[in-house]
Amino acid sequence: MNVQRPRTVAVIGGGIVGLFTALELQDRGFAVQLIEPDQPGGRQAASYGNGTWVNEGAIIPISLPGLWKTVPGFLLDPNGPFIIRWRHLPRLLSWLPRFVLAGRSWARVQRDIPVRAALLRGAVAAYEARADQAGSSDLLGARGVMYAYRDEAEFAADEKAWALRREQGIACSFHRGEELRELAPELSSDYAVGARILPSRSLRDPGGYCAALAGLFLRRGGRILKTRATGFDIAGGRLRAVRTKQGDVPCAHAVVAAGIGSGALARQSGDRVPLIAERGYHVVIRDCPVRPEISLMLAEGKLAVASTPAGLRLAGQVELAAPDAPANWDRARILLHFAKRMFPQASAVIENGDHDMWMGNRPSTPDGLPVIGKASGCADIVHAFGHAHFGMSMSPATARLVADLVTDGQPAIDPAPYSPRRFRLVA
Ligand SMILES: Cc1cc2nc3c(=O)[nH]c(=O)nc-3n(C[C@H](O)[C@H](O)[C@H](O)COP(=O)(O)OP(=O)(O)OC[C@H]3O[C@@H](n4cnc5c(N)ncnc54)[C@H](O)[C@@H]3O)c2cc1C
Repeated sequence: MNVQRPRTVAVIGGGIVGLFTALELQDRGFAVQLIEPDQPGGRQAASYGNGTWVNEGAIIPISLPGLWKTVPGFLLDPNGPFIIRWRHLPRLLSWLPRFVLAGRSWARVQRDIPVRAALLRGAVAAYEARADQAGSSDLLGARGVMYAYRDEAEFAADEKAWALRREQGIACSFHRGEELRELAPELSSDYAVGARILPSRSLRDPGGYCAALAGLFLRRGGRILKTRATGFDIAGGRLRAVRTKQGDVPCAHAVVAAGIGSGALARQSGDRVPLIAERGYHVVIRDCPVRPEISLMLAEGKLAVASTPAGLRLAGQVELAAPDAPANWDRARILLHFAKRMFPQASAVIENGDHDMWMGNRPSTPDGLPVIGKASGCADIVHAFGHAHFGMSMSPATARLVADLVTDGQPAIDPAPYSPRRFRLVA
């Protein structure tokens, strides 16, 4: 029991997971210090450059039955959404087979759908509530998110996913013809079907949203320590401090929410987690005349398209490579190829306009579920990382679960499926 322990906690990492967690712990009466070497939600963070979607319908994992058949085609397609940098293959060797196995059958996929849904429920309301507290409601897009399909056959190929969403009670609506044009007037008429997820919002500026949460955290008495965590001081099984590059930060509890940087910290607290970088890219086309109000996901190229104050953002791509390997900006240019198809009227600006390109690391486990749970080497340390493609959407529920674990309360969500110890077993 932690009743005698001081209510002090250090949250490591100022991305969206760390920020929602820090605020939740403040709500529960903790004195919280956030350890982050850069700007919270700055360019170093996946939370800066993502597709902007807060999507309660993100229950479908990336690894699905038949993936092993499509991946070779993707790898050969110069405009494909997926690439492996072969030089980095050795470090992916144990991860990749487990990733493919996680989606080996629909029965296996369906087993985890409620586990994913539990982390998505209530996300939109939580984003709205925190934006309201931060005085930043303008950072939420007016409309939600919609998948765009070129034709009925492409839509039919995704029918299983939509049926599973319906089974989970996730409200969706489907639009064709005039209805689709009304929702997304900028979208080329080559697109025949729009599938909208109703419990969703897009963020106008995810980095700005993180900065707003950091501001709220500071105003409520939180402290941000601009340094890197390097490990823990643990004595007799109890946490005494988080070690950082600038000395020890005494605390009774710690949360590891350092995105791709979490693997090394987890090891130091007794957990070897297979965490790799699924690197993604974005391009912002400044001064783009096309500014859809609804955020779009192109089924074909697997990219998200969103209006941001800086311009039209295209975000996507999966590149399996070391997190610190140099970016390959050709991967970002592929996104332009799809944008021209979606918005042919703006082709010239999309191709030749002023571009801002970004690359970031999705922190990914092979089973596509995050790691949330007490560390094996010290129950005062709680892990909260590995959210891969859906960390924006899963952050609020992650924060609540982490706070339940830190306070030794009865968790509202069963933490077992997210346990850091699950990788010791064969999936
Ligand atoms: C192209 C792309 C598109 C995406 N689209 C979406 C989307 O539309 N919807 C969605 O839900 N998700 C999306 N995601 C995923 C989502 O962005 C991530 O899952 C999420 O941002 C992860 O948040 P995080 O806080 O765990 O990590 P990060 O945002 O990476 O933050 C981790 C922070 O920890 C800090 N840190 C690292 N090591 C240390 C250390 N040792 N000490 C202290 N601090 C440390 C880093 O500086 C960083 O600020 C997308 C990702 C990408 C790349």
